[in-house]
Amino acid sequence: MSSTVPLVFSLEFGFQFYTISETMEFTIIKESDTSRARKGLLKLGQTVLETPVFMPVGTKGTVKTLDSGELKEIGLDLILANTYHLYLRPGLDVIKNAGGLHSFMNWDRALLTDSGGYQVFSLPDLKKVTDEGVLFKSHIDGQEIFFTPESVMEAQIIFGSDIVMCLDECVEHTAPLKKTREAVIRTTLWSRRCKEYFNCHKKPHQNLFGIVQGGFDKGLRKESLEQICELGFDGYAVGGLSVGETYEKTFDILDSVTPGLPREKPRYFMGLGSLDELEQAVRMGVDMFDSVWPTRNARNGQVFTSEGKKQVRNARFKYSLEPVDKECSCFVCRNHTLSYLHHLFNVEELLGYKLATYHNLYFLQNRIKQIRDSI
Ligand SMILES: [Zn+2]
Repeated sequence: MSSTVPLVFSLEFGFQFYTISETMEFTIIKESDTSRARKGLLKLGQTVLETPVFMPVGTKGTVKTLDSGELKEIGLDLILANTYHLYLRPGLDVIKNAGGLHSFMNWDRALLTDSGGYQVFSLPDLKKVTDEGVLFKSHIDGQEIFFTPESVMEAQIIFGSDIVMCLDECVEHTAPLKKTREAVIRTTLWSRRCKEYFNCHKKPHQNLFGIVQGGFDKGLRKESLEQICELGFDGYAVGGLSVGETYEKTFDILDSVTPGLPREKPRYFMGLGSLDELEQAVRMGVDMFDSVWPTRNARNGQVFTSEGKKQVRNARFKYSLEPVDKECSCFVCRNHTLSYLHHLFNVEELLGYKLATYHNLYFLQNRIKQIRDSI
């Protein structure tokens, strides 16, 4: 698809069409009768993508093993890249010199970058968090770096990301209530500063999402939700979940947050770990997801199929002349056998990682299409 749904057409068919910014429009095509699931179209500049949408993770400016042509072949319209990693390597000067991340990566569809907060707060060498920002040591050379709301906005503006994420403070799932409360207050403070800096310096095509924190306390979640929504952003993310807690805890909290998010704006659940989780989050009204799970599993030899997961290294596939998944029509399943993939993984040939990644992302795209169709 290359153009948005015209307003007249939308009204005629009962679609609800919202202009969020100069370059972002969100259309709710259908809402489920049995859950809070919704199906929509998100227009980001020239890219129109269907929601719910899955974003593969291109940590260092690459979805590992695949080039931009292959990502498009699979039908991916939106990918995520990590500010923390790109800030360290290649560095802002290199990406600025290339004219931004889209041209650096040769990716002409939509890009979302995180703020780096999640990575920084996961570092063992986190030095100091104050209201001003967060001081940490690079995991590469130990160099001390100070991230502020303004500096992570500056980085993402240089990247030219279509969706820019606010800096938030993430706490571990075992954090005491006092620490979680402080993180909520700081996340709101930082979000306000992010918005101020962003509004003054953004490129015309860029949009800013706020992040709701609050750990596993529903009261704090509600406070964070109200404060972030009050500030007003182009879309909203639920952060601080999938950090080691149980499945029940994750979805108990998500379930308490999504009904309070503005209906007319896209909702993004940051980080998930399985197809079950994705389906559950869709039912709770989430529109966007990212995860390293399909690509990381692929590189470990685990492929998703209509019969469940398969480990291609398994000896039972040594002589199998069947495709990875008989029901899949991707390039890999049309052209290669399990026996060949088994061999490639056994001898650690690079092509194996690529074929498994390609298939997993294609499989997931298909599953998401089925989920959209079922709404
Ligand atoms: Zn396939």
